[in-house]
Amino acid sequence: MVDELFEVFEELFERRSKKKKKEKEGKAGKGGNAATPAAPPIFCVDCGTRNEGGARFCMECGALLPSPGEELRCLGCNAQLPLRAKFCPRCGAKAAV
Ligand SMILES: [Zn+2]
Ligand SMILES: [Zn+2]
Repeated sequence: MVDELFEVFEELFERRSKKKKKEKEGKAGKGGNAATPAAPPIFCVDCGTRNEGGARFCMECGALLPSPGEELRCLGCNAQLPLRAKFCPRCGAKAAV
């Protein structure tokens, strides 16, 4: 009887420690991601190919890819433009892409 109880206890303890390990691993993984966030994929404005986040040039056609850190601004009114904008929605000037 005592042995049986001990086995049950041991099993429970094992499960708990396994669960704790998993939680720890999950937290560590999240922390790692927070330190180096996965950059979102960048779509080539020329050919539409999906490139890895952080890529500078399109792997398909070699075109310069828009960088998330760089802002595209209108040459006419200096308004911030969407990266794919061809014309400024505010003043109609041609965007420099
Ligand atoms: Zn391309
Ligand atoms: Zn403008």
